[in-house]
Amino acid sequence: MFHRPDYVFESVADIPAGFFEKENISALILDLDNTLTTHNNPVPDPKRLEWFNKAKSSGLKMIIVSNNHPERVEPFAKYLGLDFVPDGKKPLPRGYNEACRRLGIPKTGIAAVGDQIFTDVMGCKTAGIRSIFVFPIEPETGFWFRVKRTLERPLLPKRPKKGSDK
Ligand SMILES: [Mg+2]
Repeated sequence: MFHRPDYVFESVADIPAGFFEKENISALILDLDNTLTTHNNPVPDPKRLEWFNKAKSSGLKMIIVSNNHPERVEPFAKYLGLDFVPDGKKPLPRGYNEACRRLGIPKTGIAAVGDQIFTDVMGCKTAGIRSIFVFPIEPETGFWFRVKRTLERPLLPKRPKKGSDK
């Protein structure tokens, strides 16, 4: 099913140590807004930054693919020391494909994490990589975002039971 992620977590910070190795995922494509930090926030949320540092030191390869513009994505990616693909146009496969090419490993070893069904999850399906869904850090206030979130609601996976505070 095009809207069904392969894995669901409350947030990236809830992806346990050892998960990637267990699932044979050696590279992870990261969404930015509402996955690593809130919209327009230039720095990662502290809890997610701690998770990121652990994942990085475990040897997980990471890259950012965002639908947002280079002016937003570049400083954030640089802060984390990551390569990035801005204007990713998810759910079209192009941005993900470019990231996979740069990661230089087969798609079977790559997953992508994000907070939206219509962009992140469906993008994974079109690109043929595994999808990890996380719930958005905070609700968006813009009109189109609220429309998207309303349409997305019936497709959302069940929230994991043991959630964490944001
Ligand atoms: Mg997002």
